[in-house]
Amino acid sequence: MNEKLGKEIQFIKGVGPSRATLLNKLGIFNLKDLITYFPREHEDRGKIKTISELVNGEETLISAYPAGRVNEIKIRKNLTLYKLIVRDETGSCEMTWYNQSYLKNMFRMDTRYKFFGRVSRNFNKISMQSPVYETEDSNRNTGKIIPIYPLTYNLSQNTIRKIIENGLKEVDGKLEETLPKYILEKYNLYDYNTAIKQIHFPDSFANFNLARKRLVFEELFSMQLALLSLKNKYEIKKAGISFSKQAKMMDIIEKLPFKLTKAQIRVLEEIDKDMESTKPMNRLMQGDVGSGKTVVALIAAYKAVKSGYQATIMAPTAILASQHLETFNDILSGLGIKCELLISGITKKKKEDILNRLTEGKIDILIGTHAILEENVIFKNLGLVVTDEQHRFGVRQRSTITEKGNNPDVLVMTATPIPRTLALILYGDLDISIIDELPPNRKKIETYAVTKQMEARVNNFIIKNIEEGRQCYVVCPLVEENEEIDAKSVMEIYENYKNNVFSKYRVEYLHGKMKQKEKDAIMEEFKNGNIDILISTTVIEVGVNVPNSNIMVIENAERFGLAQLHQLRGRVGRGEYQSYCILKYQGNSQIIRERMKIISSTNDGFVISEKDLELRGSGEFFGTKQHGLPEFKIANLFEDIDLLKQVQGIAMEIIDKDPLLENKENVLLRNLVDEKFKNRIEI
Ligand code: ADP
Ligand code: MG
Repeated sequence: MNEKLGKEIQFIKGVGPSRATLLNKLGIFNLKDLITYFPREHEDRGKIKTISELVNGEETLISAYPAGRVNEIKIRKNLTLYKLIVRDETGSCEMTWYNQSYLKNMFRMDTRYKFFGRVSRNFNKISMQSPVYETEDSNRNTGKIIPIYPLTYNLSQNTIRKIIENGLKEVDGKLEETLPKYILEKYNLYDYNTAIKQIHFPDSFANFNLARKRLVFEELFSMQLALLSLKNKYEIKKAGISFSKQAKMMDIIEKLPFKLTKAQIRVLEEIDKDMESTKPMNRLMQGDVGSGKTVVALIAAYKAVKSGYQATIMAPTAILASQHLETFNDILSGLGIKCELLISGITKKKKEDILNRLTEGKIDILIGTHAILEENVIFKNLGLVVTDEQHRFGVRQRSTITEKGNNPDVLVMTATPIPRTLALILYGDLDISIIDELPPNRKKIETYAVTKQMEARVNNFIIKNIEEGRQCYVVCPLVEENEEIDAKSVMEIYENYKNNVFSKYRVEYLHGKMKQKEKDAIMEEFKNGNIDILISTTVIEVGVNVPNSNIMVIENAERFGLAQLHQLRGRVGRGEYQSYCILKYQGNSQIIRERMKIISSTNDGFVISEKDLELRGSGEFFGTKQHGLPEFKIANLFEDIDLLKQVQGIAMEIIDKDPLLENKENVLLRNLVDEKFKNRIEI
């Protein structure tokens, strides 16, 4: 059966080459993808109501006879209405369809039909717009609970429903079970075949809930097992490095130009303890933007170097890496600690030199981007690995870099706060430290959500600040992750700013299509205060530090997730000046207004992420990527949090008893974990 699941989608009944292309767009390539393409919701087209029972606004199924012929009404060139009055024992209802001329001769007066659609009831006039219909004895589109799928252009609900039905017929009851029997029994879960059938075409909503529960259980359970076995893998490995007690963090802390916050000290104590123990450290440091994570990493690196090891800091962008280098050099170069930068933009000669000195142990701290992962980057004795903004690096990359040392300690930093409970669960493979305090005297960033009408005032406000010597960021949203289009949207705004209101000022732009060198040059200019307004896509999202800039304007703020808006806002408020975040938004929906309200009313990343998660269920803007959480096919981290907790307990119990999942009864669990890794969990 399992081989059959790999059957190409094109060869499923009802598909063919052109529909296959459409299905590919939905991520459906084979039979397995098809039957695990889960509905977005279900419509109850099961219960027939009489016409007299119809309620305005509700979607309802009725059963009735046509009272006459279909009436064709030409409204204008491209709009013709087709109207049909139908009757049951209790009353009559008018059906309207648009431009569907084939309906003219579709209905027979002596036949009873079912109609399903949204009811509109105005005094005594009852009607339905574009109802679905079929004869009373047919059960294709009505008479049951109907799945509604997330769709792509040119593919109708009816078509995909039919294709999925065909797919299900091919596997009919013959799918191999994916969870061990003892789990199914103990937790009262549907078997796989029943779950798959009922998730698409449930006999009742109760059955649907059971099917969903089983599939969510499996999804969360396999993730938990994968995380725990990953953690196990680290812990079972032979002992790591025990850094010297003589290398005192205090020595460098005393040399810093500021006093550490309580939170920074607490986290450093946790790190210090890990570093001195023989167990390899695997720690996640979470902290809001500007909470001072970099200096914590620096102190840890200092300890590693003073213990006779090398350290490496890996950042997601060259800009960030160079900035880290600067920070590190400021504090460490005076102490004879040698830091170097490795990014892809440097010359071949320079690179060779760095690689040589690295291998000879003449570089203490190597800071860089993905370039550090390359095979020819060889350390003499790598003892500490720090990855910044970890959601950009997957587990794989983390292990590629740790393999360059001999069980080095690992510190992962992220500025994307996620709710505590969730963090503990999701990062099951890491210990967690949280910096929940900002350095003192930080001014609250004032945030305003504004619409088009406020544009002139906003512009004057920007001008006023520039005149006072400040700088301003303008961020445009990514448009469908297409760099070409993104660049265009940046350029449009750039032209408008430069040629109109801000013609007197130095306006520049930055986008993903530019060469690294150009980007770095612009960023450098901005840092040096030679640019007043910098327009960019989210390239600047991570970590850049320009204390003189105090305004962050976000165009089309409604297109960003809350966590991301918060991240972007963190680019300002880094210096002594009062800073502002101006969210320009369009649209007037309840959810947009609510999101703007949340982000304007708090600066606490943890609160925001909690709300984000809560809203995410209902809004399509909230991709999981921004959180760096693994993508789920069916689980919803907000709705399913209780199940997630339960599942975590179960997974721990199992891994405790059978760490490598080698027992016979756990073979299926082993498979689930392997599959997770095969599909690269991004955690
Ligand atoms: P993060 O990486 O967490 O976003 P950074 O490490 O970039 O934050 O810190 C932001 C700024 O705050 C930096 O300029 C840093 O030097 C400064 N900083 C860090 N810790 C403190 C502190 N305890 N007191 C004052 N300033 C601090
Ligand atoms: Mg940072």
